[in-house]
Amino acid sequence: MLRKKNLYIKGATKNFKISRSKVDLFINCKRCFWLDRVKGLGMIQPPPFALNNAVDSLLKNEFDHYRNIQEPHPIFTENGLNFIPYNHKKLEDWRENFKGLEYIDNELGLTFTGAVDDLWLNLDTNRVVVVDYKATSKTGSIEISNSGWWPSYKRQIEFYQFLLFKNNIEIENYSFFLYANGLKEGHFDSKIDFDLTLIKYEGSLAWIPKKLKEIKSLLDQDNIPDCSSNCKHCEYFEDRQNSFRRLTYGQNMDLFE
Ligand code: SF4
Repeated sequence: MLRKKNLYIKGATKNFKISRSKVDLFINCKRCFWLDRVKGLGMIQPPPFALNNAVDSLLKNEFDHYRNIQEPHPIFTENGLNFIPYNHKKLEDWRENFKGLEYIDNELGLTFTGAVDDLWLNLDTNRVVVVDYKATSKTGSIEISNSGWWPSYKRQIEFYQFLLFKNNIEIENYSFFLYANGLKEGHFDSKIDFDLTLIKYEGSLAWIPKKLKEIKSLLDQDNIPDCSSNCKHCEYFEDRQNSFRRLTYGQNMDLFE
């Protein structure tokens, strides 16, 4: 369904908001991004990841407990990290989905946003470390790679680092994924046991400023951009439309060719 609000209007929109997930949408498919932000035609939303969200909330509660008493979480000690959960008066806003961290780029006239899961403080350097919680259930160890969801996860955490940096927070040049892996052995017994794995990631923020400029040019573009070659949705839609036309117009299909 077409949205009429929060659309980008060329030359008229000041500090138009672009969330971290829309930046990722731009990277995955320029057409989908443009249709969403300029024309108000969003993708169909997937069902909510309710169990993953529950794990996120429980992890937040657990780290908040250690934040409140300003003590290290046991996982820090196990991994030899001289860390405590970071305290900041804006932390709750920075974690809120519809608030989050904000960076206003006056030159582009765009505001970039993103909501972090957690921030930890390295007591040795007094720098902040970005943390993203992930939940899954898979056999074998969890390792960072360049396939599957990993490229998007990496961009996500790098984008949070970028937003913090733009908010004058001193950050480490690395971050962490805290993975909760649901174990499938044994009986359910009204609970799932999880293994927690901490994965350190040293990324790069170098790609971001260039992408933000590209986003601005695309928003100002009048013509619909090409679609991504690796998405099945448009292909399906095209095939569906053609089948429909063939069934409806039969011999007169050349009208559409
Ligand atoms: S190719 Fe996929 S991502 Fe791109 S416009 Fe079509 S549906 Fe959207």
